[in-house]
Amino acid sequence: DSSVLKLDIISKSQKRNIAVMTSGGDAPGMNANVRAIVRSAIFRGCKPFAVYEGYSGLVKGGDYIKEMHWEDVRGWLVEGGTLIGTARCKEFTQRPGRLSACKNLIDAGIDALIVCGGDGSLTGADVFRSEWPSLIKELLDNGQITREKYEKHQHLNICGTVGSIDNDMCSTNATIGAYSSLDRICRAIDYIDATANSHSRAFVVEVMGRHCGWLALMSGLATSADYILIPEKPSSSKEWQDQMCEIVSKHRSRGRRKTIVVVAEGAIANDLTPITSKDVKDVLVNRLGLDTRITTLGHVQRGGTAVAYDRMLATLQGVEAVQAVLECTPDTPSPMIGIKENKIVRRPLAEAVKLTKSVAAAIDSRNFKKAMELRDSAFSEHLKNFMAMNSADHNKPNLPLEKRKKIAIINVGAPAGGMNSAVYAMATYCMSRGHIPYTIHNGFSGLARHESVRSVDWISIENWNSLGGSEIGTNRTLPSEVDIGLIAYYFQKYQFEGLILVGGFEAFLSLEQLQNARVSFPAFRIPMVLIPATISNNVPGTEYSLGCDTCLNSLMDYCDIVKQSAAATRDRVFVVEVQGGNSGYIATFAQLISGGQASYVPEEGISLKQLEMDINSLRGSFASGEGTSKSGKLLIKSSNASEVLTTEVIADIILEEADGRFDARTAIPGHVQQGGIPSAIDRTRGARFAIKAVEFIENANYDVEHTAVVLGIERSHLKFTPIRKLYDYETRLKKRMRKDVFWNDIREIADILVGRTKLKDQS
Ligand code: ATP
Repeated sequence: DSSVLKLDIISKSQKRNIAVMTSGGDAPGMNANVRAIVRSAIFRGCKPFAVYEGYSGLVKGGDYIKEMHWEDVRGWLVEGGTLIGTARCKEFTQRPGRLSACKNLIDAGIDALIVCGGDGSLTGADVFRSEWPSLIKELLDNGQITREKYEKHQHLNICGTVGSIDNDMCSTNATIGAYSSLDRICRAIDYIDATANSHSRAFVVEVMGRHCGWLALMSGLATSADYILIPEKPSSSKEWQDQMCEIVSKHRSRGRRKTIVVVAEGAIANDLTPITSKDVKDVLVNRLGLDTRITTLGHVQRGGTAVAYDRMLATLQGVEAVQAVLECTPDTPSPMIGIKENKIVRRPLAEAVKLTKSVAAAIDSRNFKKAMELRDSAFSEHLKNFMAMNSADHNKPNLPLEKRKKIAIINVGAPAGGMNSAVYAMATYCMSRGHIPYTIHNGFSGLARHESVRSVDWISIENWNSLGGSEIGTNRTLPSEVDIGLIAYYFQKYQFEGLILVGGFEAFLSLEQLQNARVSFPAFRIPMVLIPATISNNVPGTEYSLGCDTCLNSLMDYCDIVKQSAAATRDRVFVVEVQGGNSGYIATFAQLISGGQASYVPEEGISLKQLEMDINSLRGSFASGEGTSKSGKLLIKSSNASEVLTTEVIADIILEEADGRFDARTAIPGHVQQGGIPSAIDRTRGARFAIKAVEFIENANYDVEHTAVVLGIERSHLKFTPIRKLYDYETRLKKRMRKDVFWNDIREIADILVGRTKLKDQS
């Protein structure tokens, strides 16, 4: 594994000429990857180059290999596709093509090559690397290179960053572009939902994924589709047709007016015959008599700007790739940069390619169990969850009577994307198991004042998965602020046997109060789980809270627009004020993904010296003409970064110091940051969290400490931590913050990539 990102400037002897290329199908985020590679290479004292048009440019050489400068990649975070071009190149699959590529790289003086592409491109890179010694030997023997060059270029230093919308590469949990593509699919299905509902139609939606059902599975889960067909889990033609018809009929009989079936491009039956959208449509028409349409999403899935996650992933992978090529010795296997359990990692490229190919081979040999095992563990968990929520017959739940429980769910705190998805998944999953789900409306104040408990009816929640806000209502009132005795009374009255709280820091405090009150109120001696949901990401016990991703995406869109406006006027700086309480998480990531010149956060405060340095740097760029080019400058500031230096004051100081060369304005997105429609990440994580929480309640044996827990994500694993432990040891109560801040590396990278100089003595 790579450790923390080490970003020291390297010594002269390590200076390299590092080339980057994008190859295979384009994927949103590739430009962010190239930007990060170019800029971190420059930061490290190396010379970056871009190979245009993928392997084709490598084979052609000459002008296709160009040195890149800092400003060449300005504004690239926002752009979709790949600006250095990509191609599918036949010549490179043959040795003569690779021989030319080898010569062109040596002629351009390239020491290291970073390839951003899918499994095909990385296979090509691996072939190239393994053949390299014989290629340079051939060039030497033919007199095409000098002995000196031959000696100098003994090894090809190569590194892969995985850009592919299919998310089909082994050894990484996510590929650059996959979540953007998922976002496009979910939006499309949300649109289709409305028309399907209006006409009571069925839609068969075909999505990309030749050997990988990730897009189909995740979009099916995020949009509560009725059925999905993916290559990893095929059944016989009769089985899938019967199962699909049974599930669709069941959903229709419960009152659902629309039917959505998501089909992966590579869907197959277990005898390997392809299942086409037309096959699916015919079954829905002939057996169920549904008015059915096919929508093939096609290239829309590749389109547009990258989502926040992909910008972050591509940027961090780019920085790590430069680090990796600088650290590689002739003996180190070529690395591929991936993300495993929320951490950027290096894996041997050849091994990752081999594993990926073995999935396709497993499917071809009908070893579907193996294909499934080769996907990461979250894949099978999501599939299990999807099946549990959708295929279950709620009239015949699968738990024995004595194990069925009455489980309540409540939202506490400010709204956050994914709250509704969690409620939806909790209720649907409960019904499939035989539990009785209850929703408590309008938080603890609603319960105490209006006895706002409702049992859930399947049809009334059916589209909640994709709704923003909180359908059951949420507020910041703590149990102690109403009447904890009255709350206990209602828990007793409804005989709740489990409670799920979905919310932020107030939910955390509420859970602590309920746990404390167990001494006096037996009604609270039931398993209670908190699902963190807050855009501030300040809940102890988790690295991720529902709503953060939705918030970052809406902030990213906002910043892109403001930046464009700043760029258009040529002479303007915006100070963007973001929320997050005393947590600088959102501000930090917003800077990283929108290319802000700086972010000011509560953990650091704002020193006048740093502000002066930042203003000087702005003056420099406007004076040099850079600021008046199409760059658009943003400073991101957490609303709580400083009591004195408010957003207005900072804008005024900048204006004062600008000597009339440029203008400064404030931009305050405010509640827009809650994000509207939840992102695909928050929808699917909401479901994952909720189902885990129900399972916890099912299996918990009551004890006073260990059954009041926070369900958190650490890396990508879900884990339960007792509230007592978190509250007593891992919380800064006054600041309403977790004690450890894990985003300092990100702050450093965000600064480096915009060339910000930071005061060293700040903590
Ligand atoms: P996507 O996942 O979007 O399809 P990809 O990288 O898998 O992207 P491919 O078309 O499979 O896309 O591969 C891109 C290019 O990589 C090919 O056009 C070819 O030039 C090169 N390539 C692929 N496989 C090999 C190989 N076995 N040997 C040499 N070059 C290869």
